[in-house]
Amino acid sequence: MPTFDYDLFVIGGGSGGVRSARVAASLGKKVAIAEEYRYGGTCVIRGCVPKKLFVYASQFHEHFEDAAGFGWTVGESSFDWKKLVAAKDGEIARLEGLYKKGLAGANAEILEARAELVDAHTIKLLKTGETVTAKTIVIATGGRPNPHEALPGHELCISSNEAFHLEELPKSILIAGGGYIAVEFANIFHGLGVETTLIYRGAEILSRFDEDLRRGLHEAMAAKGIRILCQDVMQQVTKGENGLVIETLKNGTLNAGIVMLALGRDPNTQGLGLDKAGVAVNERGAILVDDYSRTNVENIYALGDVTDRVQLTPVAIHEAMCFIETEYKNNPTKPDYDLIPTAVFSQPEIGTVGLSEEEAGKRYKELEVYRAQFRPLKATLSGRAEKMIMKLIVDAASRKVVGAHILGHDAGEMAQLLGITLKAGCTKDDFDRTMALHPTAAEELVTMYAPSYRIRDGQRI
Ligand code: NDP
Repeated sequence: MPTFDYDLFVIGGGSGGVRSARVAASLGKKVAIAEEYRYGGTCVIRGCVPKKLFVYASQFHEHFEDAAGFGWTVGESSFDWKKLVAAKDGEIARLEGLYKKGLAGANAEILEARAELVDAHTIKLLKTGETVTAKTIVIATGGRPNPHEALPGHELCISSNEAFHLEELPKSILIAGGGYIAVEFANIFHGLGVETTLIYRGAEILSRFDEDLRRGLHEAMAAKGIRILCQDVMQQVTKGENGLVIETLKNGTLNAGIVMLALGRDPNTQGLGLDKAGVAVNERGAILVDDYSRTNVENIYALGDVTDRVQLTPVAIHEAMCFIETEYKNNPTKPDYDLIPTAVFSQPEIGTVGLSEEEAGKRYKELEVYRAQFRPLKATLSGRAEKMIMKLIVDAASRKVVGAHILGHDAGEMAQLLGITLKAGCTKDDFDRTMALHPTAAEELVTMYAPSYRIRDGQRI
């Protein structure tokens, strides 16, 4: 039997990598983990967590406005971007510390270095030039923003990475894309007082979500003053006298202080030595894996965004836990991708689990759609013209709820709980016999007694 320096070597200190390393080490394995940037990965350092903090920051001006309807007089308010960035950086540093503490507490060796594969069992640490060997390797190097190199002037644009560290807030921003990042940042920047334009190639933003919510969110964002240009693309970005000049296909010439690209994320595999180890990738550079996250090289696994399956933090963590079961507990476990709840932290928020009406219409012969659109209680006194949308998609034959979609405050929180009910296979009858909790917005989910309409063979009847 060959001997190795480590039982497990993990490349990448993000959600999936840290979880694999920490749990394997806590099981008594000799583990090392290498990270070239900062521990915590995209989610903690320049993704989900700082983004959510920015979302909170961007909501205050609406809270101040709403306060008047409840009898409050709010004094003059002002916003300091640098203070927000510093406070956010402090929290991110704290979280990074906790990630490292967890690894150290489990006796994993923490390496602050870029690691590249030399062969299927050997890893080179670039900082020192040292090579080490490991019986098992996990690649969890995540993804990075698509730089859109085909766009003339793409080098003048920023991605979400830089958005977290802007020296100053621009007066105006143009954001390209219609997915999670574009929509969330359009709301953040608008909420912080930046004149915001979104440009998206498709007919409606958030192409993978339920049509009703997409339309509802578009209308709400436009009503706030976010300019949304659909079915258009940028053709060129150049430097002008007062910021950037953007030539578009349909809307002519636009100007913006900053252009941000949010056009998807690419797997982070460049220069990793995958070819030397014989690890296969697809045409996008994503590492190919089987149902157990194992690559074509038996002792090398890959998980999280680098595999381009479902680019979500909890999915990477789940894949890591499945890897631990498979490799160290003699319990081969496939990640379960069915019914993943997800939220878009737009304003209003989207929370969703299961199939959209359009997808369900393709899979089921007949559907009952329960839909409620209403003004939330808080908006009555605040006077804010906002509507919540709630939708349940029910398979008429089995009565199972196959999709639940919410647009409005706390939609993400509700989607997490709805995820449990759908995962448990609850039927519409289970929803009906659940007592409403009054007064909440969520009670609508259990009080929609009659279908709003039906879908048969994909057609509304
Ligand atoms: P998304 O995949 O969500 O969206 C990418 C957007 O870019 C789509 O609107 C897509 O259009 C558009 N696009 C792609 N290529 C081009 C192109 N060449 N020209 C014009 N438009 C283009 O990616 P994001 O970058 O927003 O986010 C990356 C991932 O991070 C997400 O998939 C998500 O999984 C994760 N994420 C999750 C969050 C959450 O859970 N709240 C928050 C942020 C990110 P089309 O739709 O037409 O393909």
